[in-house]
Amino acid sequence: MKNTGFTTTSLNIPYAKKDPHNALQMPLYEAVAFDFESAEQMEANFKGEYIAHVYSRTSSPTLEYFELKLKALTNSHAVLGVSSGMAAISNAILAIVKEGENIISDIQLFGHTYSLFKQTLPGCGIETRFANFKVQAEIEKLINNKTRAIYFETVTNPQLEIADIEMLASIAKKHNLLLITDSTMTPPNVFQAGKFGVNIEVISTTKYISGGATSFGGAIIDHGNYDWTLNENLNKYTEKFGKNAFIAKLRKNIYRNFGGSMAPQTARFMIQGLDILELRVEKCYKNCMALGAFLETHQKVKQVGYPGLKTDKRFKLSEKYFNGIPGTIMSFDLESKAACFAFMNRLQIIRRATNLNDNKSLIIHPYSTIYNEFSEEERKNTDIRDTMMRLSAGIENVEDLIADFGQALG
Ligand SMILES: *Cc1c(COP(=O)(O)O)cnc(C)c1O
Repeated sequence: MKNTGFTTTSLNIPYAKKDPHNALQMPLYEAVAFDFESAEQMEANFKGEYIAHVYSRTSSPTLEYFELKLKALTNSHAVLGVSSGMAAISNAILAIVKEGENIISDIQLFGHTYSLFKQTLPGCGIETRFANFKVQAEIEKLINNKTRAIYFETVTNPQLEIADIEMLASIAKKHNLLLITDSTMTPPNVFQAGKFGVNIEVISTTKYISGGATSFGGAIIDHGNYDWTLNENLNKYTEKFGKNAFIAKLRKNIYRNFGGSMAPQTARFMIQGLDILELRVEKCYKNCMALGAFLETHQKVKQVGYPGLKTDKRFKLSEKYFNGIPGTIMSFDLESKAACFAFMNRLQIIRRATNLNDNKSLIIHPYSTIYNEFSEEERKNTDIRDTMMRLSAGIENVEDLIADFGQALG
């Protein structure tokens, strides 16, 4: 059947090879190496003429099934599962940029991505030029003949700013640059990146896709809509692999040699996570909407940020790109840092933790934690206020969440 919905599709993706027992769950292949029938077959495999799993750092059957599933669910050209979201970001970037070149990134970024761009990549001679991505001219001003990519997050965290993706795609196209997005906040059931001109998607599958904080993982998704001959760093691979140049460079070089593979057990969790993704996102979204409505009318709450709410200034962009579901993270401001801490300490159901998209609702005060390493000026530039809290909505019964908020706000 064609054109089934997200969950139906997820539940019915065929395995790469038929299971000898007709198992209805993809078995966990916890194996490091795979046997060959003859020396000739082995030689053919190493020459690329006979495709089979060889050694699990480069590919393995359970992970392959996760990749197949995510490929179908994102309507993409190729998917590579890796060990974490940070592995997805660093592997993707190292495959397309070399020493002396640069990428252009939005200033609002996940903390460790900012640290990667600001502290780690410069050590490899790779520069990141930061701009405010709300201003088109600021981006174009930074592009030169050493620029290889434009990088942004679909929804920034905890600011919840939404990129004008079509604007970014048009700049990228005009300058022949690769457009890379981190879409962790907006999982593939609400956001189809390829449709809006994104070329490469990177995801921390640790978050939504793991099914509720079960395991660490990441994915790199190639939407098959970039001409790899435009990037000379891919030359060796475009000649041999054409449209598969990027994924081939990862598999035969960056990913293989840095050793960032996803463990089979993790892939098993991720497979399960995809099957229940839509269900969970819908529940978390409903909880966000109900909590948002509650917080907006509460006198102790100064401001609520959730682009799913009609009252939020980013609602239109959320509708345009994410069918109105801009992830399920929300922010709200209380009177002071002390009020935030007192509120957090009174919570009984909502957990004080730093993760996103767990099945449990999680709360954090970003200014004093995730942004602790930032200077006052950096916090100001990235709009991190000491009065702001971030909530990652879970799947609890909404009346319990509202009751917990109510008693903790006092
Ligand atoms: C968590 C996160 C990452 C990093 O992912 P890990 O799996 O923790 O390595 C990157 N980007 C965003 C937007 C994230 O939320």
